[in-house]
This record gives sequence, structure tokens and C-alpha cells, in this order.
Amino acid sequence: MISNITLSENEPSVETDDKNKKNHGDPAEDRRFPIDPEVSIRYMKSKAYKTTYGDEPVWVKYRRNFKGQFAPRKTRKSCVMSGFIATGNPCPICRDEYLVLDYTNVELLKQFIHPQTGEIYDSRIINLCRKKLLQLEVAIEKAKLYGLIKRQVPFRRYNYNEYYPDYKKN
Ligand SMILES: [Zn+2]
Repeated sequence: MISNITLSENEPSVETDDKNKKNHGDPAEDRRFPIDPEVSIRYMKSKAYKTTYGDEPVWVKYRRNFKGQFAPRKTRKSCVMSGFIATGNPCPICRDEYLVLDYTNVELLKQFIHPQTGEIYDSRIINLCRKKLLQLEVAIEKAKLYGLIKRQVPFRRYNYNEYYPDYKKN
């Protein structure tokens, strides 16, 4: 009887030890404490950012891992599970914890907007996971509401002579 009681008491303590070990994983993969947007804005102007990404947008050199010849149409649901990176190939935003999607972080948000159309790039080009893509869309809409990003209307210069040959005569 006594041994049974001690066993049942020991079992939960072993479980909690395992959980603690899980929580103290690789500190580089810890995403439980999000970084302040102001720190992220300073990081975007820093030398460390320049040496990592250069002048290109953060998603340019990212490549997706997938089985077979064609990538799945949708990107993964989320790279982070219970506060830690759960994949070997996290998306361009999840892999760098100092990239914070916030409406004040305009320099980062502008990298995901197509210069000609003013729309966000397709997720198969920027390869963000769907959780971060939603955060990106919300942040860009909020930045537009605050006037930090211009609402761009695509401008097209038409040659009306192609449609109306007598246009100049009139
Ligand atoms: Zn991600």
C-alpha cells in the first residue's frame, strides 16, 4: 500500500519535470515573450540587420522546405507552438524574433507591399505562415488608417488612339 502511494505521488512530479525541461529549450527558439515594436524599429536601422539582410526584403532569400516537386498551396498554419519554434524551417518573420509586425514598424511592412499594385504579395512569394500573414494584413490596414502607409491607387497611362483612332482630330 505504502509503495503504491509513493508511486502515485512520484508520477506527477516526473511529468512536471519533463514539462519544465520542455519549456527551457533552446533560448533562440523561445517566442514566449514578444519583443517591443520600438526595439524592432531600431533593429531595422541597425548594422546587425544590414549584415543579415542587406538591402533586400527579409523574405527574398527564404526557401520553403516541402516534400516532392511542388510546394503545397497554403503555407503552414503557424511556426510557433506553445511559445516555441516547432519547425526546422520557420517563416521569414518567425525565424527572426526581432522582426515584429506592428503598425508603427512601417519599414518592415513596406517590404511586403508590391510597389506597382499596392497590394500584399501572394503568400507563396513571401512564404509567411498563415498566423503571421494575418498579423501582417491587420498591421498594414492599421498603418493605412493612421496614415503611415499611403493608399496607392494603380495609375495606368492609356494611349487613347488605340481605342479611338479619331481621338486627336476631335
Ligand atoms: Zn511563421
